[in-house]
Order: sequence, then C-alpha cells, then structure tokens
Amino acid sequence: MFPGAAEVRGSGVLDGVHRKWRHVFARALDGEIVDRGAAIELLEETDAQVFQALLFVASEIRCREKGRIVTYSPKVFLPITNLCLDRCGYCTFRADPDDPHAWTMPPEEVRSVCQHGQQLGCTEALLCLGDKPERAFKIYRSTLRVFGCESTVDYLVHCSQIALNQGLFPHTNAGLLSREDMDRLRPTNVSLGLMLENVSPRLRQRGQAHAQAPDKDPEKRLGMMRQAGELRIPFTTGILLGIGETPTEIVDSLLAIRSLHEEFGHIQEIIVQNFRAKPTTRMASAPEPSNIDTAKVLAVARLLAPAMNIQAPPNLSPYDHRLLLHAGLNDWGGISPLTPDFVNPEAPWPHVAALASLCREEGFTLVPRLPVYPHYLSRPEFIHENLRPRLQDFVQQKGAPSC
Ligand code: SF4
Repeated sequence: MFPGAAEVRGSGVLDGVHRKWRHVFARALDGEIVDRGAAIELLEETDAQVFQALLFVASEIRCREKGRIVTYSPKVFLPITNLCLDRCGYCTFRADPDDPHAWTMPPEEVRSVCQHGQQLGCTEALLCLGDKPERAFKIYRSTLRVFGCESTVDYLVHCSQIALNQGLFPHTNAGLLSREDMDRLRPTNVSLGLMLENVSPRLRQRGQAHAQAPDKDPEKRLGMMRQAGELRIPFTTGILLGIGETPTEIVDSLLAIRSLHEEFGHIQEIIVQNFRAKPTTRMASAPEPSNIDTAKVLAVARLLAPAMNIQAPPNLSPYDHRLLLHAGLNDWGGISPLTPDFVNPEAPWPHVAALASLCREEGFTLVPRLPVYPHYLSRPEFIHENLRPRLQDFVQQKGAPSC
C-alpha cells in the first residue's frame, strides 16, 4: 500500500510547504494529474522544502504506478554511421566524411559486436546514426552500394537482420524517418526511437542549439512520432534539458509527448536527458543543468504522466543516481557491458552490479528488460508478426520480462 494524501499529511512531509503546494501535492497523491500552470510553476520554484516535497510525491506516485521495480536494457550500441546532415550546437558524435573520426560500420563489424554482446547477456541492439547522411554525402552513398544497399534504410534493415540472427532485438534511432521508412523497419525492429528534445521552434533560430539542424524542427519530429503511433510502433522519445529552453517549453514538450501517447498508446518511455557541454562544440561554455534541475524535471514529468515509463541515462549523472531514483524514474535505459555511449563517449556506463546494489539500498529491485516494454508483448498490433515467434521463444526460455 502506498500513501494517499491523508497519510502523507500525517507523515509531516508537507509541513512547512506553502498551502498552495500542499494542495497541489495532496491532489496529485490522490490521483489527480497536475495542470500545465502548476507544472511550470514547480519548475520555477526555488524553495528547498517544495523541492523535497515534490521529490517525495513523485517517488510515491512512481511506486504506486510502477511498484519498486526499476529497469534497464542490456545493450550493444552500434553507431552505424556518424555522418550527419545536421549540426547541433552540442554534438560531438557527427562527422563529415573527411574527418579523421568519421566512420560507417561494415556488416562484419555489426555481426561481431552483436555476437559478443549476446555472449555477455545483451538483448538490445541499438542502431544509432546521424540524420539523413545519404542526402548530404556522395561518398557515403558509394559506401552503401559497396554493402549492396541503395539507401540508409536498406542498410538498417540489413544490419537489424544481422542483429536478430545473433539473438538480439534491434531498436533503431536514425533521426527523422518517413512513414515508409518506419514501415520497412517494423519487421526487424521491436521499437524505434527519436528524441523530441524540445517542442519549441525558437531553438531553431539563429544562435540557438538547433540553428543548423533542419531535422530538429519540432513539427517534423512530432509528425514522425504521430506516424509511428498510427503504425503502432512502440516508440522511445524524450527531452534534452539545458539547450536554451524555458520551463514553459519543457512542460509543453512533456505535454506534447503525453498527448501523442494518449492518442496512440505507443510512447514506451520518456527520457529526461541532461545536456553535457563538450569542449569542441559551439555550446562548450553553455551552462549544464544542475542535478537539482534534472531531478525537478523528472519529478514534474512523473506528476504530468504518472503511469508512463520515465527514464534518465545513468552515465550522464554518475554521482546522482540516488537523487534521480527518488525523483520518480522507473528506468535507467540502455546500459552496455561492451560498447561505449558513442554520443557521450566521455561518460562511461555504470556497472550494473553497483547500480543494482544502490537500487537495493534504496528499496528497489533493478531488473533487465527488452528494448520493447513488456506490456506491448500481449498487444499483437504493436509487434510485427515477423518478431512474435522470437519474442515468444525468448519469454519461454527466460521468463516474462519485468516491469
Ligand atoms: S545530435 Fe544527432 S542530428 Fe544533431 S548533429 Fe549530432 S548526430 Fe546529427
């Protein structure tokens, strides 16, 4: 049993918090979802007691909705290519073909990494790449032809099939994809992903983080997420904190994601990712969000979308796992025993045993999950028929995944 408003009032957690917030928190604990205005005000609130109460309430709501299980996905990260049409102000992943660190993974390397990952207990193959490289770079189109492929999506289908053959379940994040592209990836990918990042078109303006990134147009990204919903594809998305957005824009981004999920039921998780400033980028001197900022947004996300899966990447906040856990997340995302986070190579994954131990100390159990969340497995419209036998075999051999 988890406490409702009456028990929490009795526990004294809300004592000393302004009456306005006591009222908001009490209603949230009793199952009411906070409104947009209150969510924005909570992000702007600087009172430490309100922050503590917010975390407490978010954590209680998480336990009510998700229990005391926290999940992660054991994965291999396959950076299929880092060539990219866009130039986001914070990115060190992208490259031009003549950059020394430009790469496109050949099929043999994809196979070898997947095989090794499977031996280490991974279940997810994350295929990640820059946006629309074939539109920007002729030499990349030639590379694709060497691999026997006409397009990036052809190659992604090929690599996904390699991953499946090695016993992994693919999840692709290839930037903006068309409806046809997603439909082609469906038979080999248990889920797809695209970070919304933020719903504000302002961030595309001159001098802003996405000024040189046409594919970060929020309307285009929301359009793809909508089409994924129409196709009934389990979908991962989220927001990127600290790239120049306002509290209002953060809340509106969370609401836009929730709204698509209410319509199609396909958003399997909301990632709250904190921006990290990197020396060689345009945003090298931009301030990073503090651990308090990240925890606050996680907690507000929980109050806005109580029943959804909410995730924060553990490698981007290595000293704040306890704080983030108590802010209401229920998933840590992909963690690899083999491959680095190629998007944030300076940020190593935590050791699963250490993370499990920390979760246990805080009263939670850390368990692995597949790159498609368990509740979709019993909904055939969300699982392509090509994938059903493999998923059923997996569940029979390993037991039903948690969550
Ligand atoms: S963040 Fe993604 S879209 Fe932006 S430049 Fe980097 S790889 Fe390209």
